[in-house]
Amino acid sequence: MKNTPILVSACLAGLFCRYNGDTVPDERVVELVRQGRAVPFCPEVHGGLPTPRAPCEKLGEKIIDRDGIDRTAAFCRGAEEGLRLARLIGSREAILKARSPSCGSGEIYDGTFASIRVPGDGIFAQLLKENGMSVRTEEDLPA
Ligand code: SF4
Repeated sequence: MKNTPILVSACLAGLFCRYNGDTVPDERVVELVRQGRAVPFCPEVHGGLPTPRAPCEKLGEKIIDRDGIDRTAAFCRGAEEGLRLARLIGSREAILKARSPSCGSGEIYDGTFASIRVPGDGIFAQLLKENGMSVRTEEDLPA
């Protein structure tokens, strides 16, 4: 069976797209990209947000930044772009950054900016799952 590319969070691939202008490379993800087996993508940047930007958390179905501004539209736009890319490259699988309000899968922060974790998915991870893709985080990868 043909191997289809894996969509990965760009910050895990070493790109400096985090809200604070930083990156969080994961060597296993970087290696997949080096081998041409994975494609990096950042839904928040593709949604039109700058880097750096105010940190955001998911509160119910909305995304609110630390200054109280509703960023839901930009997050949804970026997630839709990521789904478009996944379809373009025939990807069925994603490895995304744990607990991000976009990329988190299975667990995110609760919207109070108090580092409280709750069950849930980020906007991008949720959209990919709703469209039949398998989503893991870097914490699910074998060591
Ligand atoms: Fe990384 Fe995803 Fe946040 Fe972009 S939106 S910086 S890819 S966790």
